[in-house]
Amino acid sequence: MDGIDLQKIEQASPILQVAIELGIKVQGNMGRCFKSEQHCGADREAMTLFFNPSRNTFFCKFCQDVGGSVVDLVSQYRGIDREEAAAWLAHRSEFDLLTRQRYHGKGRKKM
Ligand SMILES: [Zn+2]
Repeated sequence: MDGIDLQKIEQASPILQVAIELGIKVQGNMGRCFKSEQHCGADREAMTLFFNPSRNTFFCKFCQDVGGSVVDLVSQYRGIDREEAAAWLAHRSEFDLLTRQRYHGKGRKKM
């Protein structure tokens, strides 16, 4: 991934704020898992996502495949790859390097 500074993007993307923006129900440092359909037998309304704002990480106590960094959160929630997730975060945080690269020369003009 040239041109994208993941660390910068992650620093500019507080995980709790990103979770809320994605539409995840958050209460304090916990949230409702977006893959709760794979919690067999558990209460699907339960808050099983744990956010660590100081490390900008998260995990679900039931899901092996839910957890990681803020980039992983966007990637797993939206079902996109990490590169797209990073681009989404970059755009969100107005760290628009990739966006600029992507749209450069496409002649997007405001009328
Ligand atoms: Zn889960």
